[in-house]
Amino acid sequence: MQTLQSTVQLNNGIEMPIFGLGVYKSERDTVPAVQAAIKNGYRLIDTAAFYGNEKEVGDAVRNSGVSREEIFVTTKIWNDSQRQGRQREAFESSLKELGMEYVDLYLVHWPVPEKIHETWKEMEKMYEEGLIRAIGVSNFLEHHLEELSVKANIAPAVDQFECNPYLIRKGLREYCNRQNIVPEAWSPLGRGACFEEPVLLEIAKNHGKSVAQVVLRYDVQSGIVTIPKSVKEERIVQNAQVFDFELSSEEIRAIEKLNRDEMHGDPDYVDF
Ligand code: NAD
Repeated sequence: MQTLQSTVQLNNGIEMPIFGLGVYKSERDTVPAVQAAIKNGYRLIDTAAFYGNEKEVGDAVRNSGVSREEIFVTTKIWNDSQRQGRQREAFESSLKELGMEYVDLYLVHWPVPEKIHETWKEMEKMYEEGLIRAIGVSNFLEHHLEELSVKANIAPAVDQFECNPYLIRKGLREYCNRQNIVPEAWSPLGRGACFEEPVLLEIAKNHGKSVAQVVLRYDVQSGIVTIPKSVKEERIVQNAQVFDFELSSEEIRAIEKLNRDEMHGDPDYVDF
């Protein structure tokens, strides 16, 4: 049976927890949120240079009482650093903010037009230097992954993209699975947009669970790494209680039928 500490194996053999905490917009609550998560068994923390809270994540991990090696830390290179050709400096700045000697997973935050290969080359170098345990991408659609593969020496280990019941992303997930790229869901709860959805409320009622738990269970049961954000300890705990029930195949189908391709960030228009 899976647990909160269960992992998926990445294409280079390293293990990544299937469930973690997102900290986008956690702001001044970042330290207590990360500490609450670790205390309650989380082992994956997802931040980014853009979130402005790598320092808080680093502080919280260091003071968590759990060793650095047991925590899987993801951060990401922001778009401007790619545009300015400052990939190396951006990574060094992230390491410094985190106060860490390595990052577990470093992601290209968005596919910046014309910069995909340049950024990836530098990521590959830093990976080979042992500064990063795995490299991956975020917000890459199939065509971005195809483009990357033309020149890449190392295939991305992970693609983190927007994914929730209103944006099921079946095609992209199948593509990732075929290419041995682990799919990871951002905004897995759709920031609460689906909490009143009758189909989900019904499934939740049947299992004595919340809609958030049903949605997150869908992810782990489908092999999608998921990183819901909350700064409230009660929700941090609740969100992770998804390893003690199973969705039936009918329920999975009913959830997938909710898809309406509702995207909030379009990876084909990265002008920010
Ligand atoms: P999310 O879908 O995780 O929703 C978070 C919001 O849902 C919280 O602010 C809270 O208000 C609410 N919530 C959480 N648990 C709840 C519960 N049990 N009951 C009721 N409400 C609850 O949204 P997100 O923060 O956008 O995404 C999660 C993480 O994904 C981020 O923190 C970040 O780490 C990552 N992310 C990555 C990208 C990217 O471009 N790679 C973009 C957005 C987010």
